[in-house]
Amino acid sequence: MDKLYVFGHQKPDTDTITSAIVAANFQRALGNPATPYKLGEISKETKFALSTFNVEEPETLERLEEGANVVLVDHNDPMQSANGVENAKVKMVIDHHCINFKTAEPLYYIAEPVGCTATILYKLYHQHDIEIDQKTAGLMLSAIISDTLLFKSPTCTDEDKAAAEDLAEIAGVNIDQYGKALLKAGTDVSDLEPAQIINVDSKDFEKNGVRVTISQINAVDYSIFEMQDKLELAIKADIISKKLDLYIFTVTDILNANSKILVLGDKADLAEKAFKITLENNTAILPGVVSRKKQMLPEILNSID
Ligand code: MN
Ligand code: MN
Repeated sequence: MDKLYVFGHQKPDTDTITSAIVAANFQRALGNPATPYKLGEISKETKFALSTFNVEEPETLERLEEGANVVLVDHNDPMQSANGVENAKVKMVIDHHCINFKTAEPLYYIAEPVGCTATILYKLYHQHDIEIDQKTAGLMLSAIISDTLLFKSPTCTDEDKAAAEDLAEIAGVNIDQYGKALLKAGTDVSDLEPAQIINVDSKDFEKNGVRVTISQINAVDYSIFEMQDKLELAIKADIISKKLDLYIFTVTDILNANSKILVLGDKADLAEKAFKITLENNTAILPGVVSRKKQMLPEILNSID
């Protein structure tokens, strides 16, 4: 058989990268010459997973040659796939997303409504009676932790959980400890300046002449508030330069599904009214709030007369 190109989606996450590596290992175990690739820069979280289990980063795939044999993991939509995929021969798809895929030729198409591609690969290894080594187990476990936010996501199934427990044993790690370290690596902003941190994901809104910015970062704890003074200086500079009335910097604890906000501006009282809170030292906890779009913005807009 000709060489197999194995890869996940653009803007790769941990499942996409590790599933490409694991699916290539799986193909090689079946006797097929397979090589994993990435379609873009890998995240800090994925780097943490690869270095923990001492696995090399895949090479970048710039463009597929015409007629290349490919295996798609963690995606099927050509919009999210490699350059040239429309002229490649897709031999296999292993995925857990809705299907937006057309094919002229028969292929293996494995789709399951589980929380992670790695969970499907885990089952494939068992079906083919192929042993899962320690590194492979570590990669699959990392993908499940990442895609299910350590089993907190509503997309997580019992199969993901059971696979993760078995894989953690083979990998020789404690799920909770390793999982938190992995997710924490993905939220690392230690190389960013305060002005960059508040602008990682910042959106501006206006109603009746009241100008509001709500920015948000993900975290696994609220330790970033140790640098509250510096964050406030950066926020105050933004308030002046963008003529804002209200600035809400939101730190979302992805493990516990809560947020802590830092609120500044002449109209800070709007946040107190909107969320029915009292700010202390400009901060407050918003229990159960993780979505700016669904749980913050409507309240803020309603509080503006
Ligand atoms: Mn993905
Ligand atoms: Mn996935």
